[in-house]
Amino acid sequence: MSGYRTRCLYLILFCTCILIPIGLLKGWGFETHKVINREAVKFLPGPLGNYFSQNVDYISEHSIDPDLWKEKDPDEGYGHYMDCDLYGDYPFLDIPRSLDLLIESYGAGKVKKWGIAPWRIEEYYHRLIEQFKAGHWEEANLTAAALAHYISDIHMPLHVVANYDGQLTGNDGVHGQWETQMVDRYLLDNIQPKGILFTVIEPVEESFTVMKESYPYHFDILRADSLARKNLSGEKRERLKDWRDPMADTNYHEILFRESGDIAKERIEMAVLRVASFWYTAWIKAGKPMPEETSVKTELDEKGYMVSP
Ligand SMILES: [Zn+2]
Repeated sequence: MSGYRTRCLYLILFCTCILIPIGLLKGWGFETHKVINREAVKFLPGPLGNYFSQNVDYISEHSIDPDLWKEKDPDEGYGHYMDCDLYGDYPFLDIPRSLDLLIESYGAGKVKKWGIAPWRIEEYYHRLIEQFKAGHWEEANLTAAALAHYISDIHMPLHVVANYDGQLTGNDGVHGQWETQMVDRYLLDNIQPKGILFTVIEPVEESFTVMKESYPYHFDILRADSLARKNLSGEKRERLKDWRDPMADTNYHEILFRESGDIAKERIEMAVLRVASFWYTAWIKAGKPMPEETSVKTELDEKGYMVSP
C-alpha cells in the first residue's frame, strides 16, 4: 500500500474512532456550539468585547472541548445536562439549589446519572471570575469557551429531561437528528440573536431559569418528531438512531423543521444572550480588569487595521 493510501486509511480509522463515541453522547452539534460562542462575543461591549473579539476564533473553536473531555473523563458527562423531571415536578421549585443538599437528598449515584449542569456552570463561572481577577487571560479564554458550552447545553430542551432521546416514547434518535442534522441544515446560517445583556444574579438559580424555559419545549419536539417519522418505513425509522444519517431520501427533517424549527432558533438565540451575559457579569464581578492587549490596541476596521481612538 502506498504511503498516501496508508495515511488515508489511518485518517479514516481515526475519524471513525472519534465520531462513533461522540455520536452516542448528548449536546448541541459542534457547529452550533461554535456559532453560539462566535455570536456571543459580538454582544460584549468595552475592553472585554475588544479582547474576546481578538480571540474569537479560539473561543469559538474550543466551545466543543467539554464534549471531547467526556472521552477521557468519566465525571465530565453529567455536567452537561440535568434530568429535572427525575428530581422533581415542573417548575422544579423543590429541587435543592445546593449540590451538597442535592447529593444528600438523592444520593451520589443518582445525581451522577441524572446530571448536575447548574453546578458545573457555577464552577466555571467562578473560575472565570478568578482568572479575570488574576489577569490569567489565556486561561480565561478556555474557561469562557467551556462555560459557554455548559450554558448552551441546557438551552437544548432534551438536555433537561429523562426522555432525552425520545427513548421512552418511541421517538428514538430524535436528540441527534433535531440538534445536529436539522439545525445544521436549516438554521446555522440564520441565527440572529437580539436583546440586551443582563446581570447574572446567581448562576445556579439562573441555570434553573434556563431549564424551566427549556423543559416545556421537549413535548413539542417529541410531537414534531412523531409527525415527521409517521410515514417512514420501519427500516428508515431505525436509521434515525444514527445522528450522522441525513435521511436525505425522506422528508423527515423538512417536517421536523416546519413543526419545531422555531424552537431551536429561539433556544440557540437565547443561549447566545445568556453566554454573553455570564461572561460580562463575571468580568464586572472581577472588578472590570483591563486586558493587557486591549489597553494598547483599539478597534479594528474591516481590513483588520487599528482604528484611532
Ligand atoms: Zn455538551
